[in-house]
Amino acid sequence: MDRVELLQELSEAFGVSGYENEVIEIIRKHFGRRVAVSRDRIGSIIGRKDGTRDSPKIMFSAHMDEIGFMVKDFTKQGFVKFLTVGGWWPGNVPGMKVQIRTRDGRLVPGVVGLKPIHELTPEEMKKLPEIKDMYIDVGATKDFDPKKKLGIAPGDPVVPAGCFERMANSDLLLGKAWDDRVGCALLVNLLDNLQDVEHPNSVYLVGSVQEEVGLRGARTSAFAIEPDIGFALDVSICRDTPGNEDEAAERLGGGVGVLIYDSTMIPHVKLREYVCDLAEQNKIPYHLASIKGGYDTGTIHLTKHGVPCLALGVPTRYVHSGASVISLDDYDNILKLITSIVKNLNEDVLKKILE
Ligand SMILES: [Zn+2]
Repeated sequence: MDRVELLQELSEAFGVSGYENEVIEIIRKHFGRRVAVSRDRIGSIIGRKDGTRDSPKIMFSAHMDEIGFMVKDFTKQGFVKFLTVGGWWPGNVPGMKVQIRTRDGRLVPGVVGLKPIHELTPEEMKKLPEIKDMYIDVGATKDFDPKKKLGIAPGDPVVPAGCFERMANSDLLLGKAWDDRVGCALLVNLLDNLQDVEHPNSVYLVGSVQEEVGLRGARTSAFAIEPDIGFALDVSICRDTPGNEDEAAERLGGGVGVLIYDSTMIPHVKLREYVCDLAEQNKIPYHLASIKGGYDTGTIHLTKHGVPCLALGVPTRYVHSGASVISLDDYDNILKLITSIVKNLNEDVLKKILE
């Protein structure tokens, strides 16, 4: 399957934290029989690809969940009140087209409503809207009670509606949930690249659950794997839009984002240097990136007696909104880099990293 089709399929999948099943099935389908597949007990999927040696064990983690919402209750008129799942900025939410999935699997379209501008007082106009004042409108009217007619119930998951487009600048893809379906696609395409390749290690391709609510699935799957080295494959932040510096290194087309800092981990310096050297030897563009927030490596690196870890990011515009943008060129570069990591990272390299 073409990588753009794979990215579209993953972007459009429904998978708020704790409800990742659709994404699991897509990954499972694409892994096929090429890896030994297992699950940890909170849901993460682990594909093991054996090389010529068992050690080092390299774990690549991409989280399957996306930020979204959950049905909380209803107003008297039948509007849906909701909880946020993951990190939302309230300014990004009103007017968003969403889908609610009911217990019987039905997808109900709706829009996040808020008092219209015409009704706001001058004081209210100055303030950021609050989630508590918002609601999801699924078409409630005097004679249509969504609770009764549609079977929506508290606990039902909600995601932004899919909006996949290849942009007029054809290197760019617009879509929901690139955080972190772009990483999920990388797991599949990395496996494609490893067909008929001898690699001196064993590779664990992990689709983790519940990253957006506290890096939870990576914690349990790392415990199951006990990796020697861990990587998070995720999005990094673009700083190439208005309000940022014009010459930002963290930009679309900037190559692989190699994280030097996030709120949950100081990356292992020798591993980072090894990866940057490998990128330079292979002429793969990269830049150093940082983020307020965390990655799966935030929990992986604290497994047992500790695991050298590094997060790698695909530069992404508008992370944690209903629609974000990535570059295929960056995607191809990160894929090249992780493929070359797997071909090269052997026992000797591990020893040097641990020295
Ligand atoms: Zn992420």
